Amino acid sequence: MTTTQQEMFGELLLDKKVVNALTDMGFEEPSPIQAATIPLVLAGDDVIGQAQTGTGKTAAFGIPIVQSIINTRHIQALIMVPTRELAIQVAEEVGKIGRTSHIKVLPVYGGQPIERQIRALKSGVQIVIGTPGRLIDHINRRTIKLDAIKYLVLDEADEMLDMGFVDDMEEIMRNLPAERQTLLFSATMPRPILSLTKKYMRAPKNITITKEELTVPLIDQYYFETKDKVEGICRLMDAEIDGKVIIFCRTKKGVDDLAIALSSRGYMAEGLHGDLSQNQRDRVMKKFREGSVDILIATDVAARGIDIDNITHVINFDIPQDPESYVHRIGRTGRAGNTGVAMTFITPREFRQLKLIERIVKTKIQRRQLPTAANVVERQREQIISKMQTVLELNAYHDYMSIAESLLDDYSAEDVAAAALKLMQEGNKALEAPQEDVISNDLKNTGGRPGMVRLFMNVGRSQKITVKDIISTIAIESDISARDIGLINIYDRFTFVEVPEDVAEKVLGAMHRNTIRGYRVNIEPARVRK
Ligand code: ADP
Ligand code: MG
Repeated sequence: MTTTQQEMFGELLLDKKVVNALTDMGFEEPSPIQAATIPLVLAGDDVIGQAQTGTGKTAAFGIPIVQSIINTRHIQALIMVPTRELAIQVAEEVGKIGRTSHIKVLPVYGGQPIERQIRALKSGVQIVIGTPGRLIDHINRRTIKLDAIKYLVLDEADEMLDMGFVDDMEEIMRNLPAERQTLLFSATMPRPILSLTKKYMRAPKNITITKEELTVPLIDQYYFETKDKVEGICRLMDAEIDGKVIIFCRTKKGVDDLAIALSSRGYMAEGLHGDLSQNQRDRVMKKFREGSVDILIATDVAARGIDIDNITHVINFDIPQDPESYVHRIGRTGRAGNTGVAMTFITPREFRQLKLIERIVKTKIQRRQLPTAANVVERQREQIISKMQTVLELNAYHDYMSIAESLLDDYSAEDVAAAALKLMQEGNKALEAPQEDVISNDLKNTGGRPGMVRLFMNVGRSQKITVKDIISTIAIESDISARDIGLINIYDRFTFVEVPEDVAEKVLGAMHRNTIRGYRVNIEPARVRK
């Protein structure tokens, strides 16, 4: 512990035990609301704190309460929060603050068996954090007794109001001992909250913390409501996005899954998360900077350190947990005076969360429809036309003139141009005869060379898979000749391998859920972006 840490929290006259706990938590200095609130609470005042999310309100009430509580078997503080998630979150944080003082905390919320909570309450806890309904339930059963309560905290009071808990809040306030301190925190102060404070708080001290504005003016912000988010991303990439994209997912697994889903569809995408070695991270970032990868998929944590200037689009594959994170995420685009676009995918259930972000960030996130398949085709046409126009304008194709002229002996100019365009767009696939239905639909358009099917496997360099592993395992397991196996491309987290059309089903059957070098394999026909 450094001396400054001690001094900073020490100035607030905190016990050494509490300061030690805060140091363990990595808190170096009090946040503004903490610096303002802690002395008042220690002095016995009621406090109304008005501050946005992420300002450190939990510790603002948690620290002085932990410090003032004694380690008896009585419940001495009740903390009311609007949701189960918050109950758990606040209990964790207050529990950490109270660790060195041996203060026990317990979250109680609906949905968890009440018997389990009753047993835990009987074992002796000093601070209970709960949602209103469940708290009242316990109070009525006398499993939470109110007589020793010295502190009542209403955290996110405006949220509780919005959720219809105002009567519950009032009931609890009415039944608590008069000799208690009440601390109320709320981002806004709607009238019903104000009247609760008038009725049940004693000469409360007001603390308002304003944070710098959380707005990012040059960024266009949209949201899409869809069930199939992967398809949504593909549509956007195909129909309009052209540039460097960061996609945010909530979890590491989400990052991996999306990286695989997009790569197998032919996009240049790579995932970035905490499980990668420094080397792997550097390699991914280098590719992204240089442009050989144009989609970077990351968790909030993994993206924290990265600094790239010309990101054109930030996509929230999962809606951010809180408004702060939203601002951080979208702040990665629109830098240095460039314009940027932020797109957020939501499911209908997440609409509330979106509105909360809008309210706190004071921004408008516009609803949009995803591009249609027709938009995708239209864009491809535009791209082809504009590329052709450029080549024509540059007027430097005369080396090809004699070829064109000799083709014109046998074909019309329109036919030649159309065939050239097809070749340009589809590459060697343009050389194939249109396929009859000899192979199943999935096995067409896998991006394999003529006669071959390209398969996708979810193992790669990260599993130390080599070309030899792939060939020997597939040959032996599927009973085909090693010589028949075509191109193999091994990437960090997946591999593409070509096999002849007529044995593709056999290989799929033999390899799926089988193992290579001890790793369980998922294998499926690769898909190609049209
Ligand atoms: P709020 O309730 O105002 O939204 P929280 O209490 O949830 O904010 O705090 C937001 C985050 O900041 C939490 O991860 C918390 O651990 C952290 N935090 C709070 N106070 C400090 C501090 N003094 N130093 C460092 N981190 C802090
Ligand atoms: Mg909070």
